[in-house]
Amino acid sequence: MEYAENILGTIGNTPLVKMNKLVEDLPCLVLAKYETFNPGNSVKDRMALQMIEDAEADGRLKPGGTIIEGTSGNTGMGLALAAIVKGYKCIFVMADKQSKEKVDIMRAVGAEVIVCPTAVEPDDPRSYYSVSKRLGEETPNSWYVNQYDNPSNTKAHYESTGPEIWKQTDGKITHFVVGVGTGGTISGVGKYLKEQNPNIKVWGVDTYGSVFKKYHETGIFDENEIYPYVTEGIGEDILPKNVDFSVIDGFTKVTDKDACVYTQRLAKEEGMFLGNSAGSAIKGVLQLKEHFKPDDVVVVLFHDHGSRYVGKMFNDDWMREMGYIE
Ligand code: PMP
Repeated sequence: MEYAENILGTIGNTPLVKMNKLVEDLPCLVLAKYETFNPGNSVKDRMALQMIEDAEADGRLKPGGTIIEGTSGNTGMGLALAAIVKGYKCIFVMADKQSKEKVDIMRAVGAEVIVCPTAVEPDDPRSYYSVSKRLGEETPNSWYVNQYDNPSNTKAHYESTGPEIWKQTDGKITHFVVGVGTGGTISGVGKYLKEQNPNIKVWGVDTYGSVFKKYHETGIFDENEIYPYVTEGIGEDILPKNVDFSVIDGFTKVTDKDACVYTQRLAKEEGMFLGNSAGSAIKGVLQLKEHFKPDDVVVVLFHDHGSRYVGKMFNDDWMREMGYIE
């Protein structure tokens, strides 16, 4: 018999899938690291489990404890699955721009969810950064995860996602392209790949309204770059410790409209029903066309599943209201 001991045993070892129609104009092979095959339907299961195991190991998380985190949903799902198996409670703080499906899904896996306003400064006491930090201080036997600065986030990708991509491409990968939020994925995978072959180029996909691209190019944290945007999961108005700019060769910014249009195109033209940041990621790959040569092997990572976005970019009324389609 062949089975996992519990659902956590199914995390990782996701497939690599060739992109076809959407990348017809590119000269090279483009492969998608398809993270929706994780049990929580996103890449975040990997880092959630790693953060919990590291916190257990050094006593930050104790038996029967409460896990507290500010999360847009995917990290919450990963934490909730691990919490169920391991016997912890979860309280998640979310920003009100996140899709309703994401809140409902968190509650479905037993988490308590607190929704906070998006349009306030990060240090405002109502912001989701502030509320999650305060709950961490006030709740007995609790552990505040802080995926932005928690080194176990990057470590998970250094130890699992990166080695998988290296092995699956037989060491032939030349470019890695991925959306950046906390920075855990790009930093862990990027560090591992560059240690194997320093010539591999690592590209971050950023959104308009986020600070990463400008900071990477100038070293300036420019507040004028910060404004509300629609794209979920990538871009920040802070510099998380998990973004290791030294392993990133460059960023490209994708508009909200393009992210949504390309999320639809992935579903309709590739049969890849994925989340909004996958639309950003594939549009980012297309924008980087001039950097690719015929023998290159480009790997793009798709973070999460389309089911969480059915009321948004997969809904044509919503797309029209936003002015993204005629
Ligand atoms: N896409 C989605 C849908 C996400 O939830 C996240 C995590 N915020 C990212 C991309 C970015 O990944 P990372 O936090 O590892 O940079």
